[in-house]
Amino acid sequence: MNKSKVVVITGASSGIGEATAKLLAKNGNKVVLGARRVPRLQEITGNITDLGGEAIYLPTDVTKDDEVEALAKLASDKFGRIDVWINCAGVMPQSLLSQKKIKDWDNMIDINIKGTLYGIGAALSYMMKQKSGQIINISSVAGHIVGPMSAVYSATKYAVRAISEGLRQEMAQAQSNVRVTLISPGAVNTELVNSITDEKIKEGTEEFYKNFSIPVDRVAETIQQSIDLPADAAWNEVIIRPTTQQM
Ligand code: NDP
Repeated sequence: MNKSKVVVITGASSGIGEATAKLLAKNGNKVVLGARRVPRLQEITGNITDLGGEAIYLPTDVTKDDEVEALAKLASDKFGRIDVWINCAGVMPQSLLSQKKIKDWDNMIDINIKGTLYGIGAALSYMMKQKSGQIINISSVAGHIVGPMSAVYSATKYAVRAISEGLRQEMAQAQSNVRVTLISPGAVNTELVNSITDEKIKEGTEEFYKNFSIPVDRVAETIQQSIDLPADAAWNEVIIRPTTQQM
């Protein structure tokens, strides 16, 4: 098993992306981090290199196609290839549709859906030429069920699921050797609730997360395991929930 893969991670400045970057680097992979908060990216890459790992970063807003392309180019220029691309950037500003939070709707659509598409587009330019690779998209349990306040978030995560399955079929049809993995976590202890703009909904969600969420490492380990699978097989879809989370 090749443990020294070149892995690009969007949304790598906190939560699942940060934990995944640290774990993959600890296991000998070269990680390329993208997100908007530069001080965070500096700190995380510094931590990784202090421990003897290889990590670089580029300030990246996934709603900007050219910045996502630049992240891919950096990975290729620096390390010569892109083995794995993880679309992890996401926001979850839950609200009722009747609240008409158009800015929040736009953000979710732009970051969760378009950001994932831009990542796929950038990664495929390299992976199709290499005839190998893996694209890992982060959906959610909310990509499988809908509830009040999460209609738009769920819609974006259903979209990530649909895009992942379409991508999987296209990659198989092209015999590209590009694997597609969709990870759908339940409640995970991260900063995600901070993207909720309605204070009451935020408080309620924080309470739910306090009671049920699992540590980020659970998801990072799942991602590492999906990468470790032999190249002729892929976990196409994984749901990882806290054992105590009902829905
Ligand atoms: P965090 O809030 O901790 O991390 C979100 C990451 O997305 C940050 O690194 C943030 O970086 C980045 N991000 C947000 N907007 C942009 C943007 N425009 N461009 C680039 N990066 C951006 O939450 P999580 O780690 O929980 O979230 C990671 C993914 O996991 C998301 O897709 C989320 O939907 C999904 N998920 C999370 C669950 C949970 O319970 N935590 C459950 C199911 C799915 P920055 O602000 O620096 O740009």
